[in-house]
Amino acid sequence: MGLELVSNLMEVYTAEDPMAFDHPEGDPWADFREIMRIEWKMAFTYKHVLGKYSKFFIELADKKFLATECRGCGKVWAIPRPLCPDCLSITRWKELSGKGTLESYSASYFVPAFMKVDIPYILAMVRLDGADTLFTHQLRNYGELENIKVGMPIKVAYATEPVNHPMLLMHFEPA
Ligand SMILES: [Zn+2]
Repeated sequence: MGLELVSNLMEVYTAEDPMAFDHPEGDPWADFREIMRIEWKMAFTYKHVLGKYSKFFIELADKKFLATECRGCGKVWAIPRPLCPDCLSITRWKELSGKGTLESYSASYFVPAFMKVDIPYILAMVRLDGADTLFTHQLRNYGELENIKVGMPIKVAYATEPVNHPMLLMHFEPA
């Protein structure tokens, strides 16, 4: 048949007639039920803009953690907010130490395959020193699950190898 010449051929199979009862005189699609499955690698390049949050990620790459401080009410938002959700004033950037406290967390045993992370995946809610809000991100390098305690000191850890998305420029670790 010559199919062995298709280097990425995974399999050839014959699909059954799903409505055989409707075709008493034979399957009219019989000639078209042989199916070739091939492996086809596709690559896409996305151009993505992070808008008013860009500086947060740019500074992360430089191992600095920025929050925003409201010019009106003084509340410090981490994650940063260009506009204060409480009083609608425009905020300004403010660098935090990256140290904080674990306020809550969840352990997930089901993560999307593309994430390529170990399970359980720990999503931590951290109150960073100097911030009035909680910041949610992955907690890594905690050892055993039993080691994770609400109230424990946490620090922002920065990526040391190239990452696929700016969000991965940081994660949390026990301090
Ligand atoms: Zn405000």
